[in-house]
Amino acid sequence: MSVSDEYKRYLVSAQWQVTRARAIIRAGGRCERCAATQQLEAHHLTYERLGREKPEDLEILCRKCHRRYHGLPVARADMNQLALFDAPA
Ligand SMILES: [Zn+2]
Ligand SMILES: [Zn+2]
Repeated sequence: MSVSDEYKRYLVSAQWQVTRARAIIRAGGRCERCAATQQLEAHHLTYERLGREKPEDLEILCRKCHRRYHGLPVARADMNQLALFDAPA
């Protein structure tokens, strides 16, 4: 199993949902780049602690900023595609 498969599996886990929800609350429910409050996603700044992330390992970005960060088309990128791009290098 590749790291990417493992990461994709992690992204759909209950554990990640909780980690992500907490990170969004910590960010004040806003995108850390443009302050949007809709379609927030957690971006990994580091994969060092995958599965036991520290608050500083994550950055909250809205869908648009997140897609832009990864160089993906905003309209077309789906979750699966993003998981691939957001996977540990
Ligand atoms: Zn944004
Ligand atoms: Zn990301």
